[in-house]
Amino acid sequence: MPLPCGAASAHFDAAQALVDYRLGKEPMKRLGYAGSRRAAWCVALIAGCLGACHRSEPEQGPVVEMQASKTQQPVQKQADKPQVPRERIREPAVAGSFYPRDPAELTSQVDGFLAQVKPLGIKGLRALVSPHAGYVYSGPIAATGYRQVVGLDVDRVVVMAPSHHVAFRGVAVPDADAFKTPLGIIPISAAAHQLAASSPFVVDSEPHREEHSLEVQLPFLQRTLKQFELVPLVFGRVDEEQVAERLKGLVSPNTVFIASSDLSHYRPYDEAKQLDQFTVDAIVRMDVQALSPNQACGHSPIVALVHLAQALGWKAQLLDYRNSGDTAGDRSRVVGYASIAFTDGK
Ligand SMILES: [Zn+2]
Repeated sequence: MPLPCGAASAHFDAAQALVDYRLGKEPMKRLGYAGSRRAAWCVALIAGCLGACHRSEPEQGPVVEMQASKTQQPVQKQADKPQVPRERIREPAVAGSFYPRDPAELTSQVDGFLAQVKPLGIKGLRALVSPHAGYVYSGPIAATGYRQVVGLDVDRVVVMAPSHHVAFRGVAVPDADAFKTPLGIIPISAAAHQLAASSPFVVDSEPHREEHSLEVQLPFLQRTLKQFELVPLVFGRVDEEQVAERLKGLVSPNTVFIASSDLSHYRPYDEAKQLDQFTVDAIVRMDVQALSPNQACGHSPIVALVHLAQALGWKAQLLDYRNSGDTAGDRSRVVGYASIAFTDGK
C-alpha cells in the first residue's frame, strides 16, 4: 500500500496496522501532503486520532447512573425533528465505533459521564477545547467541559474540527442542511452557509463525510443544550488568524465555540503528561508560537480559537486533563485529552 503522507517511516506502518486492527478499514486514502513537517503531521493524525480513537465497546461504558436533573435534555422526539430532506442530512459516520449507535445506550453513556462531573460555576463561558477519541477513552474528559454548558442560553454552536481524512485548503462547510446522530437531527445554521460564501471558507462535503472529530462532539451537545443550530467547520490548511477574523462575526452571548482536539499521541504515560502540560500551558497563556501540529491534532482549530480569544479579551483555564492511561488504556502508549474553557470574564 502506498504511503499517503509521503512518510517513509516505520511509524506509518505501525500506525496503519493499528488503524486497520482497531477500525477494520483503511482510512486516509486521499491524503496527499508531502514534506517532512506535513508527513509528521499526517503520521501523528493517523497514529493518534484514528488509531487512538478506539471503538466504544459497550462493556467499557460507565456504571454510574445519571442523577435525575432538570438540566439534562430528553432525547429529541420524532415530532421535534426539523423537517429536512434526507439528501440534505449528513448521516453519522462513526456511530457504533466511536460511540454507541443505540440511542438509549448512547444517552446512558453520555449522561453517565456528565453525572460524574460537578458544575464549576464558570461565568461567561464562550468556548471549549474538547477531545475527540472514542467515548470510553476521552468521554469523561469531554464531559467535564460539556457539563459546564448545561443551563446556558446557547442556541448556536460553532464546532471547529481538524480533517483526518482529506487534505485540502480552507475551512469546509458541508453542502447539507443538518447533521444527524442517533439522538436526533441538528440543523445547520444559516451562518455556516454565509461563511462558506467566501474564502478561506469553502463548501465541501468530502472532508465531513468520514470525519469523526466534529461528529463525536454532537451527542454531548444534544444532551446538554436545548435546541441549537450548528456551524460545522472542518479545517484544512489555513491561515488561522484569517479564520478567527471571520469568526468574530459569529460571536454572541448565545454562541459557544468548540475546538476539537486530542493532545500527544502514543507516548509513555509520564512523557505524555509532561508534553501535554507544556501544550496546555501554551494554550492557557495563548502562546500560539509555542504550539505545533505535533502536539495536538486539532492544532489549527485551537490556534484559530486562541486568535479569536485574544482579539476579544477572553481568558482560558484548564478544566480537566487525563490521558487514555487514566481512562481505559494501558500506560505504555497513551493519548492525551484536555478540556479547556474560554470565558469572557463577565
Ligand atoms: Zn485527532
